[in-house]
Amino acid sequence: GSLAAEALLDGLNPQQRAAVVHEGGQLLIIAGAGSGKTRVLTHRIAYLLATGRARTGEILAITFTNKAAAEMRERVSELVGPRARNMWVSTFHSACVRILRREAKTLGLRSNFSIYDAADSQRLMLLVCRELDLDPKRFPPKAFSNRVSDLKNELVDPDDYARTVGDSNPFEQNLAAAYRLYNERLRQAHALDFDDLIMTTVNLLQAFPAVAEHYRRRFRHILVDEYQDTNQAQYMLVRELAGVPLDPSEGAAGAEANDNDLPTAELTVVGDADQSIYAFRGATIRNIVEFESDYPDATTVLLEQNYRSTQTILSAANAVISRNPDRRAKNLWTDSGSGPQIIGYVADSEHEEARFIAEEIDRLGDSDGVRPGDVAIFYRTNAQSRALEEVLIRVGLPYKVVGGTRFYERREVKDAIAYLRAIANPDDAINLRRILNVPKRGVGDRAEAMITAHSERERISFGAAISDAENVIGLATRSLTAVRGFATLMSGLRELAAGGASPAEVLDAALDRSGYLAELRASDDPQDASRVENLAELHAVATEFSESDPEGDLGDFLERVALVADTDQIPDDDDDRGVVTLMTVHTAKGLEFPVVFVTGLEDGTFPHQRSLADETELAEERRLAYVALTRARQRLYLSRAAVRTAWGMPNELPASRFIADIPEELMDWKRRESSMAALRGGSFTGGYRNRGDGGRGGSRGPSAPPVRTTRAGADTPSFGSAKPRADAPSVDVGDRVTHDAYGMGRVIAVESTGANAVAKIDFGSSGTKRLLLRYSPVTKL
Ligand code: ATP
Ligand code: MG
Repeated sequence: GSLAAEALLDGLNPQQRAAVVHEGGQLLIIAGAGSGKTRVLTHRIAYLLATGRARTGEILAITFTNKAAAEMRERVSELVGPRARNMWVSTFHSACVRILRREAKTLGLRSNFSIYDAADSQRLMLLVCRELDLDPKRFPPKAFSNRVSDLKNELVDPDDYARTVGDSNPFEQNLAAAYRLYNERLRQAHALDFDDLIMTTVNLLQAFPAVAEHYRRRFRHILVDEYQDTNQAQYMLVRELAGVPLDPSEGAAGAEANDNDLPTAELTVVGDADQSIYAFRGATIRNIVEFESDYPDATTVLLEQNYRSTQTILSAANAVISRNPDRRAKNLWTDSGSGPQIIGYVADSEHEEARFIAEEIDRLGDSDGVRPGDVAIFYRTNAQSRALEEVLIRVGLPYKVVGGTRFYERREVKDAIAYLRAIANPDDAINLRRILNVPKRGVGDRAEAMITAHSERERISFGAAISDAENVIGLATRSLTAVRGFATLMSGLRELAAGGASPAEVLDAALDRSGYLAELRASDDPQDASRVENLAELHAVATEFSESDPEGDLGDFLERVALVADTDQIPDDDDDRGVVTLMTVHTAKGLEFPVVFVTGLEDGTFPHQRSLADETELAEERRLAYVALTRARQRLYLSRAAVRTAWGMPNELPASRFIADIPEELMDWKRRESSMAALRGGSFTGGYRNRGDGGRGGSRGPSAPPVRTTRAGADTPSFGSAKPRADAPSVDVGDRVTHDAYGMGRVIAVESTGANAVAKIDFGSSGTKRLLLRYSPVTKL
């Protein structure tokens, strides 16, 4: 009853309370991090239920991740009991899937339609581009795939798009044709891609008034968390469901009653423009900034008291975010006291950074009773988790990696290791099967089944049956050729290993000769770029292994990997002390932890390299830093490595500019400088062989015109039959080059040649990089 309802207001501040009890119309809650936005949403839902203003079926609550949805449902259950169960609390995507499964018939879809993930949709786009006979160099399927995704997020369908296309622009014309055929193929397969889920739901609601009315009658209360990260499609979805459709014929549509005289739903959105970090998925701050003009009757509530963090942490976060241009300044405060200073640490390498963190967690456990479950470690990109994971495994600290797969479970890492295992053991059927058609070489399921049958008939191993391909019954000529090619590939790699090549060399040969690396490098998909980074990481693991154990062969290396990978299986929460959480900053949005380590604070890591020359992207990185810092409740650690190995090679990186923004008095530096010895020695063996940079000093190098001559590998989207990049582009001191991420540069030193060539390249405003050329998207100009 109302007593229970009143209890829900206890402990809320006046602004929070106003938001919880608000009645009628739209409500916008904008506030900085940790000010109780999510808490207000949860309490509002509970309050609506407790006062009888809503039944559970009338509530639709949208969160940004499934994890956040589960948490919110749990929190509401704590407040109102088990009836919270049949309430719709979900992500945009899950809510749309639910609606579409119910309404599939209306759309002529099967209710068990498939949902294509990014990999599926890219494969489909590839087939479509082939069907249209498009030159993959001029019209890369991955680029088309990404563009189609963007178009869907903007609710632009193939017809709309075709109308905007210029007559003389072949890229756009082909894209329009590919988009149309791609959608047709999806339909024929009774499949929707990820972006379709939202767009199709919007179309459904717009095209079928009866359906729209059904959901408008049903959802009388719509609540959206993290509204700053909605894109155009999600924005329209909310409008349609709330019954405030955007109808150009009505001019500026007010929150008027719609056609059916059904009052609009009570829409509550909460967000923080400073935490908008999904621009790359089409999120637009516009949605929150212009909420008040989109919904003229909206009430706005500002929350200014932060309940999460100490004043020290808040001041640091405010100092970082306040440098962003064009933001609405906020006055966030806390009465929880200043708390301990932020601890800073400069490590020599990412390994040492990880070691420091592990020691610190251990020390906090002894001195302050901090449990592993109280601790989170953040990084900018997934590949950075590997060094952290290895140290945590070594010292026996239980941990979990949230979002993103653990390093040794990642597909590309598993594929690469499968190659190594199949090289080391020709009878390893499982790993042979894994790579038999990876990358695709035309050995399909049928061929595999025939090889299996042959091995059973002849009582030989699967591996032996592969080598005996000639005698496999029923194998089509094309498959036979492919299987023979695979057998030759493997025996060549085995010879290499037997001849004393190091594990890193065998790995390189496997990735090159199989075409695996070339295929990834030919792709435009950012995810594939991160796969290359992960392979470069694995290469670094192999190199380090050989440095620590020069006698170790491939078998020894695989044993070591197996042990590390196996300890990976530790159960998550095996005791109530919990486990350390590792995640990217993107995944950490909305969460909080008593102790937070933000790692890799280097210009070029965080902020990310590709943002350094772009003001808009830098602003997004700054918001990301703001999100990272504001996750911490009591203790915050900021660390960086003076030398970090990325793309397979150690790189010197300057301190993140975000650190410089934090007032000195908030920081307590445990270590301020790296040891210079580490900069020169360490894993940095040999140093550069500087071939006459001085001699040519000032010259702009050979005066070659800035025309692309060769572009080894990178521009060859040879999907089924990728050409291996057997050698790196050969460059010389003074050469001008271009790099996919860093732009134009000039080679200032070259170290060793051939497959392991390393060049030091000055990329101007992107800094000087030391790159292992075979792993780097570098083209000589
Ligand atoms: P973010 O911007 O990171 O999503 P938020 O604004 O959603 O943060 P919440 O996660 O709701 O903030 O709240 C932050 C912390 O402060 C939580 O631990 C929450 O329980 C606590 N909190 C919020 N409001 C109050 C309050 N009035 N009294 C006590 N604690 C509160
Ligand atoms: Mg929140």
